[in-house]
Amino acid sequence: MLPILAMLASISLALPAWAQPADWVIDNAVVYTVDAAQPKARAIAVKGERILAVGNDLSRHVGPATRRIDAKGAAIIPGFIDSHGHMANFGESLEILDFRTSASAAEVARAVQKAAQSRPKGEWIRGRAWDQTRFPGGEFPNADDLSAVTPDHPVYLTRVDGHAAWVNRKALEMADVNAATKDPDGGKIIRDASGKPTGILVDRAQGLVSRRIPSAGNDALLRRLRRAAEECARLGLTTVHDAGVSAEVIAAYRSLIAKNALPVRAYAMIGGAGRLWEDWLKRGPEIGPHLTVRSIKLVADGALGSRGAAMKEPYSDEPSNRGLVLAKKEDIERVSRQAAARGFQVNTHAIGDLANRNVLDAYAAALGGRNDKRFRVEHSQIVSLDDMPSFARYSIIASMQATHATSDMRWAEKRVGPNRIPGAYAWERFRKLGVTVANGSDFPVESANPLWGFYASITRQDHDGSPANGWMPDQKMSREEALRSWTITGAYAAFEEKEKGSLQAGKLADFVMLSKDILQVPPKEILTTRVLLTSTGGRIVYQEKQ
Ligand SMILES: [Zn+2]
Repeated sequence: MLPILAMLASISLALPAWAQPADWVIDNAVVYTVDAAQPKARAIAVKGERILAVGNDLSRHVGPATRRIDAKGAAIIPGFIDSHGHMANFGESLEILDFRTSASAAEVARAVQKAAQSRPKGEWIRGRAWDQTRFPGGEFPNADDLSAVTPDHPVYLTRVDGHAAWVNRKALEMADVNAATKDPDGGKIIRDASGKPTGILVDRAQGLVSRRIPSAGNDALLRRLRRAAEECARLGLTTVHDAGVSAEVIAAYRSLIAKNALPVRAYAMIGGAGRLWEDWLKRGPEIGPHLTVRSIKLVADGALGSRGAAMKEPYSDEPSNRGLVLAKKEDIERVSRQAAARGFQVNTHAIGDLANRNVLDAYAAALGGRNDKRFRVEHSQIVSLDDMPSFARYSIIASMQATHATSDMRWAEKRVGPNRIPGAYAWERFRKLGVTVANGSDFPVESANPLWGFYASITRQDHDGSPANGWMPDQKMSREEALRSWTITGAYAAFEEKEKGSLQAGKLADFVMLSKDILQVPPKEILTTRVLLTSTGGRIVYQEKQ
């Protein structure tokens, strides 16, 4: 005879799902499910790592051991999915100087000088997120701005978009970059009239100096990845698509997962078509609950702010420049064919209209027509109106970042002019053509806060509410669509829509509870909405302190 407890356990296991007791039940909530069959509910029940039930009255799932949480009317939505972020860079950004709000080169130089004072001569000073469009005059700064106050420490400061570096004379010296140095393929050394480097290195030219910086090592990588993931959980993200990882980052993910120390799920894109890609092509995709590797990230051009985005016609504010093509069409096509044959997805960064066109041509050649390979164009930022229908024709996903629009709107039209601007950051135009639009932040380029991304999607305004009706207001998303773009569409963009992205019985219990109902409150209140609780797979990975 079975011991009585085992018998009870087997009876409970035999109960149908509608009658099983939950591990926990949250009730008295406003649940936005992103499930068309039941868009709204009042309660959610969780058992193990999955959702047991969603409904208005789930008392039938409350057993003696069930934990009950009274949401007190708070909103619950599926966990945010950021379809494009950079976890290791994000973790690093939490540790180095940040110039996001700096209003002049002198202000940056002063902060660098201060940091250098406490460090031995020769040690690298690192910083990020400077943006010359915020400086008086809007021109690139100069190595001498830094060297005047920090001559003995090499300084390496990354632009806000990560596509340019501002270095001092010491760094140029240590890297042997001088008037005789040629521009590398896909890179540009900005020079003065005499040919001398000014201290700005665009796209692949950054490597001339950055490769001289000693690497941080594995412990630092683990620490940064963990901090980044914890920060993501705090912000309500439950899945991040990590847009370009190395073998070291994949190993770091594995080690955090083994320690149960990764509070968000990672959909990692293999960074570039190098050796790591060759290895993965041989072994094939890996699909797991915490880490999935089934995609490759390619980079077709630079970025708009540093005029590295590859354009069909010259920049409107620099008539001699068309930007930088960083990947040949035939190389993208070759990788696309390899990937399609082996069950991998291709996700290519394309900002300028020429880069977007090149990627579309390469994808089209490999895909042939409509398909379920879910290839993506990361950013899809400036696209010729004529090229947009190709996204739909070849089932290509536009993976866009709403906050890029609201950061770049101050100067984007200066760069591309009035004729090209209608195809810029034009997510509604894509959607009307039947194109799937996933949302993300490109953190740490932009803030990782998905609520800020949600706000940007529906307002196309900065945090002060400017411009009044939003920039290119016909491109604003509805709140419902914005929520989808940050949840189920992100899941779809990773082949995970059956597992996550909406709140339905049987799906992973990935959701967040918010201090305000972002589907209802005035837009400005979205910016101050707090995450009260984040559940990743039924584990509360973040809870606001009472
Ligand atoms: Zn990126």
